[in-house]
Amino acid sequence: MKKVKEANEVAELFISLDKKASETSRIRNTVRNAHIRYIRKQPMELINEYAGLMQCKVCGQKHLADMKPNSNGRFYRGAWQCLNGCKI
Ligand SMILES: [Zn+2]
Repeated sequence: MKKVKEANEVAELFISLDKKASETSRIRNTVRNAHIRYIRKQPMELINEYAGLMQCKVCGQKHLADMKPNSNGRFYRGAWQCLNGCKI
């Protein structure tokens, strides 16, 4: 009987961990979507992902952007803005 109870507790623990994990990935998705939406509104276009080279779609200005550390290849928000202040 005790074993069954323990097994149930373990199962419940896994279920709650699972719930936490899906919550975390949902939050991560929301953040990522917000980031993508933000980038779409900016004039800069990433030409070379490895170098972080970006070009403005409006005036053609290029700059090298710094990648955020430990971010899976994401750049600082400011990197997506044109140095000449272009808006799209
Ligand atoms: Zn520009």
